[in-house]
Amino acid sequence: MSDNQERDSVISVKGLKKTFRDFWGRPKVDALRGIDLDIKKGEIFGLLGPNGSGKSTTIKILLGLLHASGGSVSVLGKEPRSVRSKERIGYLPEETYVYSYLTPRETLLFYGRLFDMSEKDVRARTSELLEMVGLAHAGGRQVGEFSKGMARRTGLAQALINNPDLIILDEPTSGLDPIGCRQVKDLMLELAKNGKTILLSSHLLADVEDVCDRVAILHNGEVQAEGRVKDLLQKLESINLTMPAVEGDKLAEMKAFAAKLSGGDVSVGHPSMDLESFFVDVVSKASDSCGDFSGAKTGQGIAGFLKKG
Ligand code: ADP
Ligand code: MG
Repeated sequence: MSDNQERDSVISVKGLKKTFRDFWGRPKVDALRGIDLDIKKGEIFGLLGPNGSGKSTTIKILLGLLHASGGSVSVLGKEPRSVRSKERIGYLPEETYVYSYLTPRETLLFYGRLFDMSEKDVRARTSELLEMVGLAHAGGRQVGEFSKGMARRTGLAQALINNPDLIILDEPTSGLDPIGCRQVKDLMLELAKNGKTILLSSHLLADVEDVCDRVAILHNGEVQAEGRVKDLLQKLESINLTMPAVEGDKLAEMKAFAAKLSGGDVSVGHPSMDLESFFVDVVSKASDSCGDFSGAKTGQGIAGFLKKG
């Protein structure tokens, strides 16, 4: 692949197939039946689908952890098993694999040292990342005693220690409380703004709707729908109009006018906040007035070293 193509296409998958075989080599499950994906630099791309639809299998093939049974795959312009491209990828697996007896600080130091980074750089990045995921105050506790969400945050920090260009997150918000979900989503938006490409998988639709530029919906190993989230969800046949509330005769007059103009049914209601925004609001007010809280705290923006330029 030429440099130009690589600049454009971070992940390119054509006709990807995966058949899991049993002990005797007989085909057991057709997990992927020929999928195509094309993910560009700076995009947040969502891989959606019910459990068992092939999301994790796709991700593992992209990372070179599984062999494809057919089709072609290119990641950062290289084939998935290339060691060179691994340095530029950050990965959060579906299950957070952390060593229970290490602290988050030790975990990040350990993973940072696997990359060619100086001790000083690794330490600086570790502090920034722990701050970012809201675990700075718990950096010295063993990961084994963490809640699932706190372990997930450790995993996320670990996936970013090498300042990757491509970030692959398998169900990133699983096990996180609503505040954690919001933070991870904000973090993804911030990372994409800084030129990083993100591929995430999820079966939680609200997560994906808020952040993804494009999505593909998988079912039974096939892409059933693909496109920009806005285009897929917009109902072009009706419109919303938001204005200061009016009542009584004014409202009746408005409705009659709108009905005459459109020639269709008109419905009127109040816009409402979604439960997530309400929850985040309530909890952040409560935590402002609470000094010592042992759980995960609200993280602070993205770490400096992850920013562009
Ligand atoms: P998702 O991540 O979308 O929930 P997966 O990609 O994990 O789904 O799984 C897709 C299908 O492949 C499922 O039917 C699953 O049971 C099967 N599968 C996944 N991994 C293996 C494996 N190692 N051996 C056999 N079947 C597998
Ligand atoms: Mg999965």
